[in-house]
Amino acid sequence: MNQAAETATTKCLYCGKPAEKVVKREIIDRSRDPHTNRPYVRTRTLDFCSTDCGGKYQMGCEG
Ligand SMILES: [Zn+2]
Repeated sequence: MNQAAETATTKCLYCGKPAEKVVKREIIDRSRDPHTNRPYVRTRTLDFCSTDCGGKYQMGCEG
């Protein structure tokens, strides 16, 4: 059976593998405003292949 991908393949942001089942996770990290140069906290919803990868990615964002 040729199962053509019906959905565009989303790669996991942490491990880089194509996510069969995309898991969305809110990632909170710190960035710096390019105009005012002031640090701020931003929240982004990113795609991962598992909650495990999402958790590891979040840990990498925290100092
Ligand atoms: Zn992953």
